[in-house]
Amino acid sequence: MIPAPPATAASEGEGTGVGAALEELRRAGLLRELRTIDSAPGAHVRLDGREVLLLCSNDYLGLAGHPSVRSAAAEAAQRWGAGAGASRLVSGNLALHERLEAELAAFKGTEASVLFGSGYLANLGVIAALAGRDDVVVSDARNHASIVDGCRLARAETVVYGHGDLDALAGALRRTRGRRALVVTDAVFSMDGDLAPLEGIVELARRHRARVIVDEAHATGVVGPGGRGLVAELGLEREVDVTIGTLGKALGSYGAFAACTRQMAAYLLNRARTAIFSTALPPPAAGAALEALRLVREEPALLERLHANARTLRDALATQGFQIPATPSTMPIVPLVVGDPRAAMALCEAALAGGVFAQAIRPPTVPAGTSRLRLVATAAHEEADLRAAAATLGAAASDRG
Ligand SMILES: *Cc1c(COP(=O)(O)O)cnc(C)c1O
Repeated sequence: MIPAPPATAASEGEGTGVGAALEELRRAGLLRELRTIDSAPGAHVRLDGREVLLLCSNDYLGLAGHPSVRSAAAEAAQRWGAGAGASRLVSGNLALHERLEAELAAFKGTEASVLFGSGYLANLGVIAALAGRDDVVVSDARNHASIVDGCRLARAETVVYGHGDLDALAGALRRTRGRRALVVTDAVFSMDGDLAPLEGIVELARRHRARVIVDEAHATGVVGPGGRGLVAELGLEREVDVTIGTLGKALGSYGAFAACTRQMAAYLLNRARTAIFSTALPPPAAGAALEALRLVREEPALLERLHANARTLRDALATQGFQIPATPSTMPIVPLVVGDPRAAMALCEAALAGGVFAQAIRPPTVPAGTSRLRLVATAAHEEADLRAAAATLGAAASDRG
């Protein structure tokens, strides 16, 4: 809820407006505060002054700290500049951007791709470009916040269907009769690590002539052949209208893209407001992503290591007595659901005292009553570290009953 503004800025303080809102969050165990990392990226970092094992980063392949990715960022800064200076459609469109778009399209198996400033901006821009006031967006209940916000920006009617429930999706699509419909789903759900039933979704969408957007933020560089994603794994490149990917997770950089046909790319450059009215991706981010893509392509050992580590973490947690949800056994996202937000924070702090950092994730990021530690195994971890971390988490959980 947005707090009512105080009568004057000077009267603002505890008990009124913003101060009261913060106090309410603190009482509910939902106050969020920053922690500070003061070291290079990697499996071990210095967090608020102490060395910890990092177990909650989305840098799945460890590429944010990879020497050649860092060099590529530095070289791109030297060659192209620190910033792009304008939006793509004014004077910010560099040959570097076009090279990255071509590589991303090839990686995803589509004709074209369009860069965005971030995955958040991509979802906002693409959803609002493809749905308007008279349309219906049909959206999975566990979709990422940026999809939820994209639906709001589109001002379309939004119908939320039960998580992964194809019958509910079919019902929602039947009720859109006559209106243009757009189905939106995460491929890998960010907080649970489970997969969307994409084949069923695409089949229903085809039957109801609905468009489909798939958000592969946690699938790109993680699942499918060569890390190309779930859409590629299932051979659905031609059935999905737009696949969103981020450069900020497995690709170790920042920014995002929409992979689609050439015609759709031309449309997005005319209608996706977050691409049109925002400065083009900084050259160092684009250069880093290009090098990350090369590594994903040419060093399959990175992906093998990611999946082996994911399996190790899951097995070690199961040995500690944790209930691991039944997602594919090589998925790196492992939720330890605690329930109460304060209990999740307490478990997080207890693990931290043992040198393991996995941030507690609370509502509204996850549904009420499902606060959790969201663990992530990456290619940067050592097997022994993951086993030790599972033991630390097991001890922290049993100490807390
Ligand atoms: C992280 C995430 C995004 C946002 O991507 P950014 O590039 O970090 O803005 C979008 N969708 C999903 C499912 C995500 O997990």
